[in-house]
Parts: sequence; C-alpha cells; structure tokens
Amino acid sequence: MNRRERRAAAAGARRGNPAGAPVASPAAELLQQVSEAGQRRAHAIVSAGPSPQTVYDAVDDAAAFGETLQERNPTDPSALACKRGCNHCCHVPVGTSAATVLRIAAALRQKLTAAEWESTVARVAALDDRTHGLPWSPSQRPPLPCAFLVEGACSIYPIRPFVCRAWNSVDAEACRQLVHTEAAPLRFDAFRRASFAGVEKGLNGALRARGLDVADLEFTAAIRVALENADACDRWLAGEPVFAGCEAHRVAEPRHRLPVAE
Ligand code: SF4
Repeated sequence: MNRRERRAAAAGARRGNPAGAPVASPAAELLQQVSEAGQRRAHAIVSAGPSPQTVYDAVDDAAAFGETLQERNPTDPSALACKRGCNHCCHVPVGTSAATVLRIAAALRQKLTAAEWESTVARVAALDDRTHGLPWSPSQRPPLPCAFLVEGACSIYPIRPFVCRAWNSVDAEACRQLVHTEAAPLRFDAFRRASFAGVEKGLNGALRARGLDVADLEFTAAIRVALENADACDRWLAGEPVFAGCEAHRVAEPRHRLPVAE
C-alpha cells in the first residue's frame, strides 16, 4: 500500500469505511437514493399490471418527483446561464428510453390539432432522415436543432425528456462549445442533474423488473416511431422490438452522458 492509498484508507476508516473502498461523491449518493426512491414509486404504479396508462402515469410521477426535489432544494437562478432563448443544448443528441418517448407521443396525440400534429411529425421525420444512426460526435453528426425547438424555445417543455430536465449550466459559452467540440468545459448544478438522472434510472429499473425493454434510445428516431405508430405502446408492452434501430450511438468520450438511462 503506497502513501496515498494509506491516507485514503485512514480517511475511509474515519468515515466508517475501514476497507478504504472508494467513497461516493455527494452527487453519486444522491443519484442512488433518488433512483431507489423513484424505483419504489414507479413499481407501485406499474404493479397493478403494465398498461399504456400505468406507464404514462409512472413517467408523469417520475417527472413530478424530480420537480419536487428541485422545489425543495432550488438552484439559485442567478447562478445559472440557462434562460429562455438560450438553446445550445437543444442542438446535441438527446438520450432517452421507450416509456418517456411513448408518454410524450401520447400527450401530443391528445393535445395537438391535426395541422400541428402533421407539422410536428414532418419536422421529426425530416430531422431523423438526416441524423438516423449517426454516432454522437460533432464531426460525424452535424449540430442540428431538435425538432421540438420552435422559435428558439422547447415546444414540449412540460413533458420534455429527463435529460433535458436535468440539463443546466453556469456557462453559456461552454454550452456553445459543446455543440462543436468533444471537450467543452461544462460546469453545472450537480443536484439538478443527479435528481433527474435518478428519477429516470428508478423508473427504468421498475420497468425493467417488469420485463420491459428500457434500452438507451436516440430521441428523434424513437419519437418518430412513437408518433407514426399509434399502437407502439401496446406493441412495446407486448415485448415487440418496436424501437429496434433507434439505439443511442454515444461516442466514447462521455460528453453527453448524464447517468440517466442505465
Ligand atoms: S425536447 Fe425540448 S429541451 Fe429537449 S432538446 Fe428538444 S427542444 Fe431542447
């Protein structure tokens, strides 16, 4: 054991961790706790038997849980660079999973007029035609605006994916760099990121325990499937690989990786 390892072991012993095992960061501990609580909540909702409605309810509950955590421990708005009209982060790929995508599609099916529906599906299909299957690297996947970014703002803000809820930054210039480079010097509120990462992880854990596929999906490709197929949720619940080909193609460097879809 070298000097550094002896010091780490001594510090671990003082914290009741005599084996000197790596100590989790506060954000990692929060992620774990929120994930466990989120999994219990989602499990209670879907235990009646997974149906489209219970899946939508579980997604809504996970989002509400994350928002409640934020209300209890709000980020100081003056510390954040995020504001309406700043949308650098809406030009990079979004990772999500089936339940979230299906929930968003169901909400849009209910809410949009026929003309709005048609233009939304057309925007999503046009973006997917350009980006489908491309690796998530600025050199291989050009930065393009999300299909739900309308007049500079998110048009599905109340039902947006968890990774979008989790996103925050104290430096808009770093976000601008993120669109074009692999190594942007991002700084953020770890509590917000860990909260929403945790609730999605818990949700996915409960759905996985029910035998459902919670693979890491690329949002544009997956929402296209959910919008174009009214029976997508029933088929997903029946175990059909409805989202085959929509998998996220993350690059090795984890610049987009919030610890969300595990
Ligand atoms: S869903 Fe909304 S917040 Fe997320 S990338 Fe698209 S426009 Fe931005």
